[in-house]
Amino acid sequence: MSLKLCQGPDCHTYHTQDRLKGIKGSKTYQTRRRSNFYYGNHNFCDQKCLYDWVNKYIEQGLDHFGRTTEAKHLTEENAWQKTYDWDRNYENRSYVYRNGITQEQRPLTEEQYNDTNYTLNER
Ligand SMILES: [Zn+2]
Repeated sequence: MSLKLCQGPDCHTYHTQDRLKGIKGSKTYQTRRRSNFYYGNHNFCDQKCLYDWVNKYIEQGLDHFGRTTEAKHLTEENAWQKTYDWDRNYENRSYVYRNGITQEQRPLTEEQYNDTNYTLNER
């Protein structure tokens, strides 16, 4: 089993017992190593390390991949969202497609609701 290293630039500077390694006289705080991580697409040991990375590299990342310079628009054709309403006794759901701009509603089957490929949006 290969271990992954946390990608947080300052991971090794946090004083926790699990980071303190080595024999007496030559102990060091070390970057966390684990079989898996849960933060930042499995690259960071915790939220602090994830945000350390974001704070350090976000400007470079935005410059590299391109900044949003104009507001994007979600038009009527793509404003459909799947949702459901409960009946009076909270026993049955009725599924609907609701347009967030026109407020038009169209009925949906439960199957269509659960089908991630089914959409009324044009995209
Ligand atoms: Zn870390």
